[in-house]
Amino acid sequence: MIPYGKQKITEEDIDAVIRVLRSSFLTQGPAVSKFEQSLRSYTDAKHAVAVNSCTSALHLSCLALGLGPGDILWTSPISFVASANCALYCGASVDFVDIEPDTALMSVEKLEEKLQQAEKEGKLPKIVVPVHFAGQPCDMQQVHELGKKYGFSIIEDAAHAIGARYQGEPVGNCRYSDITVFSFHPVKIITTGEGGAALTNDLHLAERIALLRSHGVTRDPEKMSKEPDGPWYYEQIELGFNYRMTDIQAALGYTQMESLDHFVSRRNEIASWYDEKFNVLSVEPLRLKSERDSAYHLYVTRIEGGEKKRDYMHNQLREAGVGVNLHFIPVYQQPYYRTVEQTEDMQKECVSTDNLKWLNNAEHYYARAISLPIYPALQLEEMHHVVQVISQVTRDFEQ
Ligand SMILES: *Cc1c(COP(=O)(O)O)cnc(C)c1O
Repeated sequence: MIPYGKQKITEEDIDAVIRVLRSSFLTQGPAVSKFEQSLRSYTDAKHAVAVNSCTSALHLSCLALGLGPGDILWTSPISFVASANCALYCGASVDFVDIEPDTALMSVEKLEEKLQQAEKEGKLPKIVVPVHFAGQPCDMQQVHELGKKYGFSIIEDAAHAIGARYQGEPVGNCRYSDITVFSFHPVKIITTGEGGAALTNDLHLAERIALLRSHGVTRDPEKMSKEPDGPWYYEQIELGFNYRMTDIQAALGYTQMESLDHFVSRRNEIASWYDEKFNVLSVEPLRLKSERDSAYHLYVTRIEGGEKKRDYMHNQLREAGVGVNLHFIPVYQQPYYRTVEQTEDMQKECVSTDNLKWLNNAEHYYARAISLPIYPALQLEEMHHVVQVISQVTRDFEQ
């Protein structure tokens, strides 16, 4: 089976991990800050905090921005569940902003409409989480302007988008957001096995995220309630977690960073190759907007004709050994989200069919989407095979 995504591990990666295994520190050693330094210098963000997953990075980012019970977070429905779950971890509610049809990114127009409505009802969000879906950055400048107008904070979910650029600048520099989070799960652009990071230009946010990553425990005398009793002394000053990244993971992350540009350019080559082939077939790849370079975590195309044709295409490809996938089932359709105890209003709003008119584009997208294989080691003959199956199936449709 050709998978839809796969990590690429070099000999340098393997050597780096082995060096850590032979060293004194498997965790809480020097590798994490070295990896964080490489994330900072790649993105130009002032601060980077590495954690054990992007989900943890989202959770801690929400906490650092003060999200709690009674608050509302908005995100895109076409994302992995983690983009929404982070709100529920904090006891807040979540609601969804519809996507643009051609990019599957959160629609700025729909966002503005929904903000106007929410302002009237006194239900403005505290945090908005735009998702750089498939590796393409959202309209961050516009989202940022709306953030200033309506007073919400912004977390960029860049789980798909390390190595992407917006207006010529690296995603992660937080020019238009408070925090940006990355994922280093093996299907993403670079990997640490499991892992994530939060980037920010705000020292206070970075310190809070770092504190909460490790139990809320500090050894910094300036943050303590009294003079330290001795060199062994530490204080827990908040309720934190163990969300630490190990040195084994961080060493892998550091050497993976050296391959990042190569991985992203290889993904872009594959995407252009597919784009060209699909020009003459009746399938419709997602579009790239101006002023951005995608990291192409996913290559998504759409099969016109609705669910039956989508399912037929998925099945034919799988039968032919192509491990296609669907990113994503709209989050509000998940059984948990249909029953979750959000505030009653919010609950009604999220899942009522009445509200689905607000989420038309997400519904339409889900009935058509298909993610094709894209990863650095994908072979040309495998790409030919994918296109050949798709062209056969589209011929079947025409008959
Ligand atoms: C993968 C993913 C996450 C979660 O990343 P983990 O590192 O697996 O926790 C969050 N958001 C999006 C959009 C993702 O695709």
